[in-house]
Amino acid sequence: MSTMMIAGGGIGGLAAALAVVRAGYRAVVLERQPEFGELGAGIQLGPNAFRALEQLGVTHSVAERAVFVDRLRLMDALTGHLIAGLEVGTTFRKRYGHPYAVAHRGHLHRALLEACRSSDAVDLCSDNGVERYDQDDDGVTVTLTDGRRLRGVGLIGADGLHSAVRGQLVGDGPPRVSGHTTYRAVIPAARMPEDLRGHAVTLWAAPGCHVVHYPIAGSTLVNLVLTRDTGADQPVAGRPVEPAEMAANFGHLHPSPRRLITLAQDWKAWVLCDRDPSDRWQDGRVVLLGDAAHPMLQYAAQGACQALEDAVCLGDALAEQAPIPAFAHYTARRSAHTRRVQQTSRYLGREIYHPSGPAADKRDAMLAAWTEHDLLDRLDWLYASPPAARPGLPDPWSGTRQTLDAARHNGRPPSGSTR
Ligand SMILES: Cc1cc2nc3c(=O)[nH]c(=O)nc-3n(C[C@H](O)[C@H](O)[C@H](O)COP(=O)(O)OP(=O)(O)OC[C@H]3O[C@@H](n4cnc5c(N)ncnc54)[C@H](O)[C@@H]3O)c2cc1C
Repeated sequence: MSTMMIAGGGIGGLAAALAVVRAGYRAVVLERQPEFGELGAGIQLGPNAFRALEQLGVTHSVAERAVFVDRLRLMDALTGHLIAGLEVGTTFRKRYGHPYAVAHRGHLHRALLEACRSSDAVDLCSDNGVERYDQDDDGVTVTLTDGRRLRGVGLIGADGLHSAVRGQLVGDGPPRVSGHTTYRAVIPAARMPEDLRGHAVTLWAAPGCHVVHYPIAGSTLVNLVLTRDTGADQPVAGRPVEPAEMAANFGHLHPSPRRLITLAQDWKAWVLCDRDPSDRWQDGRVVLLGDAAHPMLQYAAQGACQALEDAVCLGDALAEQAPIPAFAHYTARRSAHTRRVQQTSRYLGREIYHPSGPAADKRDAMLAAWTEHDLLDRLDWLYASPPAARPGLPDPWSGTRQTLDAARHNGRPPSGSTR
């Protein structure tokens, strides 16, 4: 059996291991950390993630501990009013064939890890950081950070935002620092105010900031994520935060979302990064996957979902072709699609979650004019498409962008605007 090496044992790397084994390879997962694990708490999983998880054979173990939400809500974080809602219950599931759910990241990662552990064809090697690769006509040699060398027929770089494999393959420097700081905490569900409970993902939008909360871990916990455009210019991961910083950033919000900042004591901060899309994912027998290939802001809640789709697409290609043509086929199928998700993520942050003044009023008017059907029509490309690019399709958000651009340049705030 040929060996496929995978740098990184996050959600993308473990999903890739399961996919390449299904294609007939032995998978060697090289993880830099001493233990396989996943930082952070909640994750939203769209129906496209469940489609991929089904193909990887792990739907059941993920679904067991996930919360299947009924509704996505966009609220005005200054007035407390509902801006728009989307039912994601029966009709939504029928349309996409799969549910929308929220899960604990640890549970999703563990489901993938356990599936890898139960396969004789997966070697899980923690404490094995990948430093560089070299290749010849027959295979790839990976050099680890301790100097050891390993050989296989191919290498999948699933080593995340600061990917060493990407550094060598693309060489496009460090990721772009977005200037947005995200504050995360988890609280027991019992501490959540009665009126904010329920099986929903709720997003409160205000100029330059937003708040998201949803239940996780069988509804026993609530995941809180507050984001503000702080202009931070350095990447940060997991910095402990004092309550005063939370109050300074979010103290101006309506009492409903503002209450959330006092419910947790152990806030931690991340400064979000992404990259401009690139379709250079392959160097011969080496290819990128997940955040290493297409790091995106979290605003479409799709980074991990796309990594799962990548894994399935790559596995399907490897089942049909030798690594070099399979990697080319996979790159061609996935890169245009994920480019659009990266761009949509930036767009959502700028135009839907953080706008102010006339742009926010236009957003409200636009969303009020759409039926749920209209909204779903704009989401089909993301949730309904198989893990493949569909270049040539019109951009469903392009009309929206024009509307909002026009609002920014020509509009005046209507009288009585609170923004
Ligand atoms: C605040 C926030 C909220 C998010 N919410 C969502 C959401 O709701 N839904 C969603 O789908 N996505 C969400 N995402 C995005 C999602 O978390 C990522 O896209 C996803 O985890 C990427 O998985 P990955 O395996 O590609 O990379 P990673 O999870 O970064 O895994 C990379 C792995 O590689 C290892 N590694 C790094 N360098 C090396 C090396 N040189 N050698 C060996 N190993 C190495 C790392 O230790 C790590 O284990 C969110 C992201 C953030 C920041």
